[in-house]
Amino acid sequence: MLVAGDAAALLDHWSREGISYALRSGDLAGRAATRVLAAPDEEAVRAATDHYGRRIDEVLGAEMRASATLMRVFARNPALVHTALTRLPPMWRRLDAYIAGHSGVAEIMTTPLARAAAALGTALPARPAGGPPHG
Ligand SMILES: Cc1cc2nc3c(=O)[nH]c(=O)nc-3n(C[C@H](O)[C@H](O)[C@H](O)COP(=O)(O)OP(=O)(O)OC[C@H]3O[C@@H](n4cnc5c(N)ncnc54)[C@H](O)[C@@H]3O)c2cc1C
Repeated sequence: MLVAGDAAALLDHWSREGISYALRSGDLAGRAATRVLAAPDEEAVRAATDHYGRRIDEVLGAEMRASATLMRVFARNPALVHTALTRLPPMWRRLDAYIAGHSGVAEIMTTPLARAAAALGTALPARPAGGPPHG
């Protein structure tokens, strides 16, 4: 069975954006289904479905892992993430590009500044929304 979109839990963990994930995985699933239908035997069917899994990881995996990291840090410390994204010009320029659809979360999270902020957010005590402010 080939699953795509929400059924395969494919989404941006941070923004909860799922439409482009559904479209991109649906496209890959359609191509994989064509290969499955043309497969002469069970081994070829397995190869086609395995290929689909690898393509999902290649195309969507890096984005999903980066957005999961960002979401973990955000859930622990939303004020820190908000401050990093709105007060540090290199970060908000990347956020702006992300919102405009010109880049992905993976691109934000691979910058040294974002990696440092994520490490700090993980090391600091958790301060979820509604908790006392830093100070
Ligand atoms: C309130 C809300 C707001 C959202 N806002 C955004 C947003 O702004 N941007 C964004 O990118 N994502 C958003 N999402 C997420 C986005 O809607 C989903 O990630 C996306 O629609 C997933 O597409 P899909 O094709 O996988 O599933 P769906 O869009 O859920 O399509 C599945 C279809 O299968 C049908 N179906 C189910 N079971 C059967 C069955 N047994 N037989 C036949 N048909 C069946 C369903 O009726 C449905 O039409 C939002 C989600 C919610 C709930």
